[in-house]
Amino acid sequence: MALIEVNEVSKLYGFGDATTVALEDVSITIEKNDFIAVMGPSGSGKSTLMNIIGLLDEPTHGSYKLSERYVSRMRTTGRAKIRRDTIGFVFQTFNLLPRMNVIENVALPLAYKGMNTTKRLKKAGEMLERVGLQDREYFYPRHLSGGQAQRVAIARALVSDPSIIIADEPTGNLDSGSSRVVMELLSEIHKAGNTVLMVTHNPSLTRFASRVVYMHDGAIIHDEKSKIGEIPKILQRSMYFVSKKTEHDDLAGVSELMKQIPGDLKDEEKSKKPKKRKSRAKKSKPKKARSNKS
Ligand code: ADP
Repeated sequence: MALIEVNEVSKLYGFGDATTVALEDVSITIEKNDFIAVMGPSGSGKSTLMNIIGLLDEPTHGSYKLSERYVSRMRTTGRAKIRRDTIGFVFQTFNLLPRMNVIENVALPLAYKGMNTTKRLKKAGEMLERVGLQDREYFYPRHLSGGQAQRVAIARALVSDPSIIIADEPTGNLDSGSSRVVMELLSEIHKAGNTVLMVTHNPSLTRFASRVVYMHDGAIIHDEKSKIGEIPKILQRSMYFVSKKTEHDDLAGVSELMKQIPGDLKDEEKSKKPKKRKSRAKKSKPKKARSNKS
């Protein structure tokens, strides 16, 4: 039984000539305890897909089943409850509340569950210990380094014991040392039996994943199982090119070079299987408006 079943999901924003097709007929099945790295250039639909899977957004067309329940068309309150109990989010920009101290930030999701203050703070304290920040409980977010802020955000994501963690570019704002600590935490969460979905621009982080999904123009164009500790072949090729070019192995500038990959992947996929014509009659889809989101 799959944990997540996304079936022919499309997401359109705007109307008429200004319509943006953020996702087009995307289908993906995710098993419990998968660790998926979602890659692809900016604007390819990664965050939109994560927001739909995370029940922060609804698809325009298609269906989404989470733990055997059709959740895409549920009422807002029902979806919010499932989201609160099942999913923890980690964002690139940490999203900590600046007027709350660290322990209050971590305890906040438990307030929505109606837990009393003493229990909340105790649980939040345990989570901060888990991420190695027990000595920062009464600091405010502005007093933390980026790496520490992200560890607090991970503690907050874990405090309600979610089974799914969605991390949208969790290391996007971090130096390589802090990125490593954050990735090790995500890896521990995965090893503890959770399902992790992570958007990243950094191919070297795919070594933590059990599967790599590559998106382009609102579609999944590559989906590969990978061994933990290894980088999928398709990405190794680009990394070799990058390390040659930059002459050091911290993969600086890799996201720029990643932009070249979709073409490669498309060619490779084309040579593997002839593209099937869709049986479903296409509605007259509005023209895609180009976005300059970066
Ligand atoms: P990615 O995460 O890969 O950068 P996104 O999912 O954020 O891509 O965006 C996919 C496309 O949808 C982009 O063209 C983006 O501009 C557009 N988009 C995303 N969110 C909105 C929105 N709320 N309103 C209008 N367009 C949006």
